[in-house]
Amino acid sequence: MMLNDNLQINAAGHLAIGGADTIALAEEFGTPLYVMDEDKIRQVCRMYKSSIETCYGGNGLPLFASKAFCCKEICRIMNEEGMGLDVVSGGELYTAMQAGFPAKRIQFHGNNKTQDEISYALSCGIGHFVVDNLSELELLDETAGEKHCHVDILLRIKPGIDAHTHQFIRTGQIDSKFGFALETGEAMDAAKAAIHAKNLTLTGVHCHIGSQIFEIQPFELAAKVMLGFIRDVRAETGVELQELNLGGGFGIKYVENDQPVPYDRYMELVSNAVHMCCNEYDLTAPKIYIEPGRSIVGEAGLTLYKIGSVKQIPNIRTYVSIDGGMTDNPRYILYQSQYEAVVANKANESADFEVTIAGRCCESGDLIQEGAKIQRCIPGDILAVLSTGAYNYSMASNYNRVPRPAVVFVKDGAPRLAVRRESYEDLIRNDI
Ligand SMILES: *Cc1c(COP(=O)(O)O)cnc(C)c1O
Repeated sequence: MMLNDNLQINAAGHLAIGGADTIALAEEFGTPLYVMDEDKIRQVCRMYKSSIETCYGGNGLPLFASKAFCCKEICRIMNEEGMGLDVVSGGELYTAMQAGFPAKRIQFHGNNKTQDEISYALSCGIGHFVVDNLSELELLDETAGEKHCHVDILLRIKPGIDAHTHQFIRTGQIDSKFGFALETGEAMDAAKAAIHAKNLTLTGVHCHIGSQIFEIQPFELAAKVMLGFIRDVRAETGVELQELNLGGGFGIKYVENDQPVPYDRYMELVSNAVHMCCNEYDLTAPKIYIEPGRSIVGEAGLTLYKIGSVKQIPNIRTYVSIDGGMTDNPRYILYQSQYEAVVANKANESADFEVTIAGRCCESGDLIQEGAKIQRCIPGDILAVLSTGAYNYSMASNYNRVPRPAVVFVKDGAPRLAVRRESYEDLIRNDI
């Protein structure tokens, strides 16, 4: 049984994704190779869109958090699906603009947007800034004034919910670099300042409580806290904010034990909490934004590598070395993230070979997985690491001057190149 429903074992005994044979992909495009299943990505987008229809009568928009996977092709697909986009840098915004993504459906995040980025985003005419702090608020108001434009903003609020503790907690003051604190009155002060800012319209508030979360309760609690804040702002200023961005963070399946709640179930339960709160506080239901990143692209992707050596150290472990590693997937060295791997040309053999999957960089920590159970393999075999669609390509680096791999999208069994493989020439392009 394969980890995700878009994976198959074909007649040749090879791993296939979205109907495409991974061995043929590796031969055609080389390795390492990121492969993205376009149909799977579109399915998740449609599910989020239809949940907004069902749960909020269409008064909302899912935004793809582009930091999870950013290139022009994904921006085009998000545009075709009628999604919004969340960007956190001038570079992500530039990518979206170059892909023809409508600026009005973009929200700009980040705790330290530079003057240049603010100016560029205003010139693009983006839909919302998500303002993180008072310095940004002032700078944005001033820059908008100089440019004779007006922009809608949300305030990033710390709802005081930490979804990453084992049993999530509600604390007085979460230590976070992002956003305005509620408890100290900082958020209320910011709301007042934003309401008075000449060139800004405060349309609402935003929160994001973490990532790879499996429980529903922290999301419900965050929604309640945020609506409580909207009520308090109305009480203090007379202004009822009309928009609420509830962030992203829905968990995905990396290994068999991960059992994410179906995303439409999250949406349904959180919307119940939203509607109950609106009733209780006598608020008009706000327009709802959500910002899933990982859950849109994560399970849709896999990475193909060629195995270069199999090194058995008696009574210790067996290293299987691949032609990529931390440069294309830094998640194990960063977080000891769990992944499942398959020898793609032997996918129907039993996975009883316990190995450490090692990258090619000059770092002992450059591993993709320890204690992985894969098929017996030899140099020349192709290894697939699953669920790598999010935070792999977007986190890739050129450490050891390793060129970044290509990205291929598969649709109806047919592959097409979306990002070319970097060349040695690309590596020295900016060297003087
Ligand atoms: C990272 C991030 C997201 C997306 O999180 P996922 O876990 O990928 O869904 C959304 N909003 C903000 C503000 C983020 O920082």
